[in-house]
Amino acid sequence: MKFISTRNANVSVTASQAIVSGIADDGGLYVPSSFPIITLEEISKMQQMSYPERAAYVIGKYLDEFEVEELLSYTTQAYSRFDGEPAPLSMVKEGVYALELYHGPTLAFKDMALTLLPYLLTASKKKNGVDTKTLILVATSGDTGKAAMEGFKDVEGTEIIVLFPSGGVSRMQEAQMRTQEGANEHASSIIGNFDDAQSAVKHIFNSTDAVAKIRECGYELSSANSINWGRLVPQIVYYISAYVDLVDSGVISLGEEVNYTVPTGNFGNILACYYAKRMGLPVGKMVCASNSNKVLTDFITTGTYDISDRQFFKTESPSMDILISSNLERLIFELSGRDASLTASRMQSLKDNKSYSISLDELTSLQDLMWAGWCDDEQAMDTIAEIEDEYDYPMDTHTAVAMSVSENYISTSGDDRPMVVVSTASPYKFPRAVYMAMTGEQIDDAFEASEALYEYTAMDIPEQISALKTKPFVHTSVCEKDDILDKIISFIS
Ligand SMILES: *Cc1c(COP(=O)(O)O)cnc(C)c1O
Repeated sequence: MKFISTRNANVSVTASQAIVSGIADDGGLYVPSSFPIITLEEISKMQQMSYPERAAYVIGKYLDEFEVEELLSYTTQAYSRFDGEPAPLSMVKEGVYALELYHGPTLAFKDMALTLLPYLLTASKKKNGVDTKTLILVATSGDTGKAAMEGFKDVEGTEIIVLFPSGGVSRMQEAQMRTQEGANEHASSIIGNFDDAQSAVKHIFNSTDAVAKIRECGYELSSANSINWGRLVPQIVYYISAYVDLVDSGVISLGEEVNYTVPTGNFGNILACYYAKRMGLPVGKMVCASNSNKVLTDFITTGTYDISDRQFFKTESPSMDILISSNLERLIFELSGRDASLTASRMQSLKDNKSYSISLDELTSLQDLMWAGWCDDEQAMDTIAEIEDEYDYPMDTHTAVAMSVSENYISTSGDDRPMVVVSTASPYKFPRAVYMAMTGEQIDDAFEASEALYEYTAMDIPEQISALKTKPFVHTSVCEKDDILDKIISFIS
């Protein structure tokens, strides 16, 4: 299978090349040249498979240069780092299920891909005869950074630099990154928000001068953000796996449709759901849930993506505080009938005029696929309290946004197909906000809040959280966004 760029129809690379480079030279994102199919018969057979087997099976359809046994050895190693099942479904209430993707080493769904990506990257380099070192440059809204640091820790031939918005992540997220061990790890906060960090990173990828300077230090650049295809493909798996589990437990019969609600920021997670649907998974509606940074809700409602004059809100769901959702480009490309020049001109318009619009026909197809809604911090907090009180189910602030929006969708549409709400982080990553939501009581210290949350919910505190308490901050850098290149060079030379 070949991969093509969303901005240039003539670019065509193998999957392993797409993973090694992360982003196309024209600034476009790699997408598969066609979607492999998964039949109901295959879905039925997957009931007998473990999660690592399901993952190797689905990923193998895209990465056909890899043998399934090879992939299975990677998925087995990656998912052995999880506490129990990697992607269990939990019934919250009648017809509503939480797909818990936070049982990995860093307690957020980013682990689903970032425990596996180092294996895929290392193997991809080998397949292409690349023996230069790789510099993984990551912009993070909180969770990707830590997951990438953990995934790539001491992986030979890689150096990793993480940039996170100063004051824009939770204290627990910041502590996770600043205390990371490993000889190849660097993290710095940047003065600005996530969009600033992401733009700075993209600028470096597209700057021949920056790439040359990094090359002089002996490194080729790559990305662990969801612009990298290697990040997306492991995410397709859990949508299929959840469906398999619903069939297996008799909640649905094979072929029946299921809806998914996804708490969305950079549009990677929900895009993976769309890809699962394109493969043939019986997905009904995809509900795109946003917090107060509701640019996606407005886009899916009106067909215009507009970030001019838009205020950036810092919310209690910081991993979704994003105005420029990179992966939307991949969906726009599909909606346009795979028109690369149209996609390129829209992305140029976003850069130059801070907005672009899609046609009425495209908007109609988009609304067929997706419904969008948003909620503010107060509604998310109320939802955390309600679901805990009524169903004894603790949720983090991001999952709460999805839960709240899914309730709006269900009540306004009357759609009674089963709803899977994607649960993206452990409540213990945001203990202050979650405890506050449940009890109305404010506890400033994140570790004290964790203890209190444990007393209140009896949900075990993950070891990773307790261990953080005594670890020293080793990554203390702060940098201005214009100085990022100098910072990178200082880290790697
Ligand atoms: C990254 C993240 C999201 C948003 O996912 P996208 O793929 O960026 O849309 C939602 N919740 C949590 C906890 C996250 O870490």
